[in-house]
Amino acid sequence: RRIITTDVIEEDLKTEGNLRPQLLVDYIGQEKAKENLKVYIEAAKQRNDALDHVLFYGPPGLGKTTLAGIIANEMGVHLKVTSGPAIEKPGEMAAILNNLQEHDVLFVDEIHRLNRQVEEVLYPAMEDYAIDIMIGKGTSARSIRLELPKFTLVGATTRAGMLTAPLRDRFGVVHHLEYYTENELKTIIIRSAKVLGVEIDEEGAMEMARRSRGTPRLANRLLKRVRDFAQVRYDGKITKEVADFALNLLEVDRYGLDQIDRRILSTIMVQFSGGPVGLDTLAAAIGEDSGTIEDVYEPYLIKNGFLVRTPRGRVAGDFAYEHLGIDRKS
Ligand code: ADP
Repeated sequence: RRIITTDVIEEDLKTEGNLRPQLLVDYIGQEKAKENLKVYIEAAKQRNDALDHVLFYGPPGLGKTTLAGIIANEMGVHLKVTSGPAIEKPGEMAAILNNLQEHDVLFVDEIHRLNRQVEEVLYPAMEDYAIDIMIGKGTSARSIRLELPKFTLVGATTRAGMLTAPLRDRFGVVHHLEYYTENELKTIIIRSAKVLGVEIDEEGAMEMARRSRGTPRLANRLLKRVRDFAQVRYDGKITKEVADFALNLLEVDRYGLDQIDRRILSTIMVQFSGGPVGLDTLAAAIGEDSGTIEDVYEPYLIKNGFLVRTPRGRVAGDFAYEHLGIDRKS
């Protein structure tokens, strides 16, 4: 299996619970979101009220689920986790809402993938804490209103632009999660190493941070892989040398790019003479799903100057030529 995917893979699940920070003070980075949430949580608790609905958007693996858990913890309420594609019928959503307790947090991952009818259940639920249920058929059909406990919906999406306006407007708090800095990732890696009982030095942690694509989920995953190398090939401690050796074997380069990233870039540079090339054409050329390229690969490549998005398509950035050592044909 590929290691760079920012989707959750099975090996993450084994340790995810332990590595996830439980409180706001243990959550590293995302200072703006953290500061605001701290105020909102405190205010809601003082009023003995539910927190306003919160939407987090940004690439996968940056800590949206973790924040939902932290919100529930800090509020002292239960957390119920589900996702857009998991709920197929309005009745299923109604049942979930109806089972919540006062001030509980309902986390809906990939909320942009809720189908229309299910999403419509959320409108009155979010706004009036009620759902309208249709009973009967034909001319005798009528709707009855069912009161819900006051709850907090925490939604997560990789693309805020995919949300319908009525849904987006019902979130009182909206935060974009940013890629983490190398120093933040280093701190996360050192913390995770402590939790996993792995010895690591500063340079080893920094080298791993550099190659983690700004993403904590990847940082934790790389840590577990490098730990295995440290254990089998070295004396168990992760140093820069061990990190270098292991990450090179895993084909994660010094900017955290993997084979797919490099293929995206080299395809644009060589096959499409540097671009511009449309997203779908590019996706077909490398055999990846265009949505995955847009949500998972592109944001990091764009942020770091490897790729530029223009109205006419994707263009390889100067940094891509430099990094991959390909000459720009003029
Ligand atoms: P998302 O929901 O955005 O895909 P998650 O919340 O599942 O991401 O985060 C993935 C993993 O990264 C978590 O298991 C957690 O261990 C780690 N993580 C995320 N954000 C942080 C953070 N700010 N500090 C420490 N660890 C984090």
